[in-house]
Amino acid sequence: MSVRENLEYIKKTVKTAARECARAPETIKLVAVSKNQPLEKITEALECGHRLFGENRVQEALSHWRDLKSRTPGLLLHLIGPLQTNKVKEAVALFDMIETLDREKLARALSKEMKKQNRPIPCLIQVNTGHEEQKAGIPPDQLPAFLNFCRTECHLDIRGLMCIPPVDDPPALHFAFLKKLASENGLEELSMGMSADYEKAIPLGATYIRVGTALFGQRP
Ligand SMILES: *Cc1c(COP(=O)(O)O)cnc(C)c1O
Repeated sequence: MSVRENLEYIKKTVKTAARECARAPETIKLVAVSKNQPLEKITEALECGHRLFGENRVQEALSHWRDLKSRTPGLLLHLIGPLQTNKVKEAVALFDMIETLDREKLARALSKEMKKQNRPIPCLIQVNTGHEEQKAGIPPDQLPAFLNFCRTECHLDIRGLMCIPPVDDPPALHFAFLKKLASENGLEELSMGMSADYEKAIPLGATYIRVGTALFGQRP
């Protein structure tokens, strides 16, 4: 299957899932996850008119996108992987949304760098909904305090929440939980659902779905 065919299939699936839960399909935005994919695949998606992409590593994103971005009007890039504070400068210069804000030190560093570059990028807070030791994201019970910190101390533009459910859990439990956390905290955007489960994330309120392999094929 070509990227074009996959893209059409995903859009159709999103539309159907949205109709079934009475949501407007355009409220669900497809983040095309291009990490580890060859440039030809990215080019193919761009030729189809797709403009929203996600990368999980700053260095790789730079090599994929530094030149492409300036040549592609309307292009939007999301950072969907962990961000080290020593990469904040490059991240702020390149990305249009940080989906993985999860600690005070990072919030401070982002805030400082955004001011310096005069580039206030919207952020999502990553929540560790499965309380997994090794996984990024803030513990759910710390969300209200962290959100308050990001806004009042760091003046960051926090739009919503993001999660990556544990591999062995039914994802819908985590999607529903993230939705509940967002409502309780007055947040609009929900980044949840990947290739295997984006359909399930739609009735539970996803506004961003992050799809890699279903769009580009297996990562080499
Ligand atoms: C790789 C990745 C995805 C995409 O995963 P697929 O299963 O290939 O769709 C989504 N979100 C994050 C955070 C990722 O790292």
